[in-house]
Amino acid sequence: METVPTIQFSKTQRGRIMLIYEGYKYVENRQSNKNVFWRCSKYVKFGCRATCVTSKNPNDFPIRLAGSAHSHGPEKIYPSDKVIVPTDQEIQALTNLRPEYCVASFGFTQRGYIMLLHDGYGFTKDRQTAKGSNWKCSLFRRMKCRARAITRTINGADMMKITQPYHTHGRDEYRVEM
Ligand SMILES: [Zn+2]
Ligand SMILES: [Zn+2]
Repeated sequence: METVPTIQFSKTQRGRIMLIYEGYKYVENRQSNKNVFWRCSKYVKFGCRATCVTSKNPNDFPIRLAGSAHSHGPEKIYPSDKVIVPTDQEIQALTNLRPEYCVASFGFTQRGYIMLLHDGYGFTKDRQTAKGSNWKCSLFRRMKCRARAITRTINGADMMKITQPYHTHGRDEYRVEM
C-alpha cells in the first residue's frame, strides 16, 4: 500500500492557493476534469520548469511530479503570520485529499504528560472542550510553533484532525523532549 504523501497548502496574500510538497511550492496553473496542474512558484524568478499534478479522482494517487527537475534547491518553508490556510472545501476542489479525522495515537513525554502523536510530530493538550480536546505542538514555545490539532471521540474511538499544519521545525527537533 502506498502511503499518503504529505501535501501542505497555504494561500498567497492575493488568495491564490499554493501547494507545498517535498520542500517546493507550486501555484495552480490550469485544471482539467480530472487533474489540477501546478507549476513551481519559482517559474518566473528562476525559469524553473518543474510541475506537479494533483488528481481529483479518488482512485488515483493524490500527486505526481511532472516537467523538468527543479533548477534550484528546496526552500525552507516557514509559516508566517501572513499564511492563510485554505478551507477543506478549497482543498477538496483541487485534490482527492479529504481532510478528515484519522485515528489518534498517543504517547507520553518524559515528564509524564500525554502527547498526541501524528506523522512524526507531537502535540500537548491545550484545552478541553465540550466536544473533545485542542492540542498544540509540544514545541510551541521553544520553536514558536503554531501547529495545532483537535481530537474527538467518534463512535467510541479517539479520532484526530490537524487544524493548523505548519510546523516551524523538523520532526527531529522532538528528540530532546520525547
Ligand atoms: Zn522549481
Ligand atoms: Zn511544531
